[in-house]
Amino acid sequence: MEQLQALQPTQYVPSTAPVPEGPIVVERGSSAQVFAPKLNRGAADVVRFLLEQGEMVTATMSLADEQMELFAMEVGAELILVDPGQQEETELQALFDDSDDADESLQATRPPIVTIMGHVDHGKTTLLDKIRTANVVAGEAGGITQHIGAYQVEKNGKLITFIDTPGHAAFSKMRARGAGVTDIVVLVVAADDGVMPQTVEAISHARAADVPIVVAINKIDKENADVQRTLSAVAEQELIPEAWGGDTIVVEMSAQQGIGIDELLEQLLVVAEVEELTANPSGRAKGFVLEARLDVGRGPVATVLVDKGTLKVGDPMVAGAAWGRVRAILNDRGEQVKEAGPSSPVQVLGLSAVPQAGDEFRIAPDDRTARTVADSRAQRQRLLAQRGDARTQAGVKLEDIFTQIQAGETATLNVLIKADVHGSLEAVTESLRKLERDDVKAAFVHRGVGSITENDITLAAATNATIIGFNVRPDRKVREAAEAEHVEIRTYEVIYKLIEDIEKAMKGLLAPEFEEVVTGEAEVRELFRAPKVGAVAGCFVRSGVVSRGSKVRFLRDGVIIWKGAINTLRRFKDDVKEVREGFECGISLTDFQDLKQGDIIETYDLREIERE
Ligand code: GDP
Repeated sequence: MEQLQALQPTQYVPSTAPVPEGPIVVERGSSAQVFAPKLNRGAADVVRFLLEQGEMVTATMSLADEQMELFAMEVGAELILVDPGQQEETELQALFDDSDDADESLQATRPPIVTIMGHVDHGKTTLLDKIRTANVVAGEAGGITQHIGAYQVEKNGKLITFIDTPGHAAFSKMRARGAGVTDIVVLVVAADDGVMPQTVEAISHARAADVPIVVAINKIDKENADVQRTLSAVAEQELIPEAWGGDTIVVEMSAQQGIGIDELLEQLLVVAEVEELTANPSGRAKGFVLEARLDVGRGPVATVLVDKGTLKVGDPMVAGAAWGRVRAILNDRGEQVKEAGPSSPVQVLGLSAVPQAGDEFRIAPDDRTARTVADSRAQRQRLLAQRGDARTQAGVKLEDIFTQIQAGETATLNVLIKADVHGSLEAVTESLRKLERDDVKAAFVHRGVGSITENDITLAAATNATIIGFNVRPDRKVREAAEAEHVEIRTYEVIYKLIEDIEKAMKGLLAPEFEEVVTGEAEVRELFRAPKVGAVAGCFVRSGVVSRGSKVRFLRDGVIIWKGAINTLRRFKDDVKEVREGFECGISLTDFQDLKQGDIIETYDLREIERE
């Protein structure tokens, strides 16, 4: 309404300044405030014009393509609309300038990257585990691979890389982010169950990605296995087995009994050969992030898959909005290696922040470039996030529902429900439905049995939903993802508590939220070891007060790399309760030992946020 008042005829003087000549590049989804100045106009000009066309917009709302085009036409400007960040990203990419990379004729065969897909319970995980334990790369002591998101096995002297997350959710999530990290899909179909809905889905995903499919008919050891019937069902999906004159490779196997695994691996090598998978192993590395998380003690840890080039320790890496000098490279057996070539899955330590699965990583010519690219992406992500908020999706979160009800608008509460069993899922759904009123509706974005997963977080973030967990709890990784995506998770064990909360939310009486208030800040100046306590950081308190027992965050280059509590706090040889600004002190932390000079130790309190 403010904008409308500002536009009373008496105050409004339309701008008549000449528009810039030539095409004007504007990002899709810009607001009038951003868009108008590019055409030498004010936001009010745009708002006013669109109002005359019968379209109500405010200065900060993002505009539709047609609205911008209409206005451009009106003022006689030539418009080029680009996707957010497109222009900038191209400029950023140019900074990597890998034209000096070794010439492209240096192509070498690389291992195929395989993803296992299929219906639930058809044996994907069993197969992945069997391959992992039966065929680890020879000559390694211990030899057991770690779950880092992918692993490599050796067959006939050749390597095969397996993506360690079965199912197509991860596959399409990566693909949605532009990361084509699969060369071959193994479609597992249980011979006692046949082609099921997720089998068909998996086929669609593989086809959409134009990736060859090898069919593994699993569980042939089972009494009720019917291989022929399963084969016909597979053939109906236009995957005609070679034995029937088609070109689909089919392997009959039992993952559990270890039957047919060797043949499967051999067939994968055949497909790899036909596909002529090559990459240039020289030059700076490039690839994708498969998984990433914050590790207590090691900071951000990213599992990456090298696409081309060779990744080396010390390389300045950029992954999405994170950057850092590669401090260590670990292979899938947890061993430190100096470098990693094409198709190798490795964990990388040393990034400043946690990148997202599917982010591309590149090696920059130098640290400065790496930092510039990462910083500018981070800034853009923040901008886009803000704009996303301004655009407000159809649904609202629990915490905001009262505001909307008060504003006299119909509020739709988007919820994603996860429950321990079917019965409770139904019960929760039913009670939420009963709470619906004329002005408050519930929309179920997704309902499922099982724990809260990162996929749920992604979905909730995309739909602005609140996650309700009934008798299920998110694990650390999921909680971190939720925090990063600003998704609210509420968990309950009794239905009436849940109902009570929702009723309270509708009345604006939701349980208090807490915010973190920074109470002190100390800079690490030097490090020494003390008997019993381990690493002690000689610190200088830059501001506030640092107290023993406070909760602390540990920041390096502005990124939180650890959270915990202060263990001991000393001035000279004495234990003290607190140290104030301007003084030096010795701090040891509960379990994080990897301190560095220049790190910041921030102490904070939790304070209740007053609700209006
Ligand atoms: P996923 O959901 O596709 O990952 O399936 P799982 O690997 O978890 O397997 C589901 C169930 O089928 C488990 O109980 C496995 O032990 C069982 N299973 C997997 N492969 C075989 C097999 O070849 N034969 C038999 N009899 N059972 C199998």
